[in-house]
Amino acid sequence: MHELGHILLNSEDEFSANIFASNILAPRIAIQYSCKNYRDVVNLFRLSEEAANIAYNDYKRWRLYIVTHNNQMGEIDNVLYKHFYNTKARKFVYCSSECMICGRKMYNTFDRDCGVCTLPRYSYSSFSELDRQLLIAENTWLYGE
Ligand SMILES: [Zn+2]
Ligand SMILES: [Zn+2]
Repeated sequence: MHELGHILLNSEDEFSANIFASNILAPRIAIQYSCKNYRDVVNLFRLSEEAANIAYNDYKRWRLYIVTHNNQMGEIDNVLYKHFYNTKARKFVYCSSECMICGRKMYNTFDRDCGVCTLPRYSYSSFSELDRQLLIAENTWLYGE
C-alpha cells in the first residue's frame, strides 16, 4: 500500500505514502466505530504496533478536525459509513456472526457465543426480563424443561 501510495500520489515523500497506506488499511471512520485505543487497531486491522500507532494518532487528528468543523465528515467518510451501516442492527457494523449456541445474531464481536446463553441458571435475575424469557424459552426448546 505504501508503494501504491508513491505511485498514485506521484510523490517520493515517505510521510504521504505512509498516511495513504494507513488510511486504506485502517480507515479513520472504521477506527471511530471499532477501536478504543491503538491496541484495538493492532488486533482488528492486523497492523504492526508502529503502523497502528501512526493510524491511531492520525485518527485522533481526524476526529478533532471533524468535531471542530461542525461535525462535517468528508465525502469518502460518508461513503464508507453508508457502506458499513447495517439497517437491521441500526449501527456501523464491521463484523457479524451468530451465537454458536443459540443462533442469536451478534454484531462487532469475535466472541463465539452471545454470553447470555452461557450464563449459569442461578443468575437469571441479573439480566433483563426479555433476556430471562428468551433463555427460559431456549432451555425449554433445548432440554424440554
Ligand atoms: Zn516509500
Ligand atoms: Zn447465545
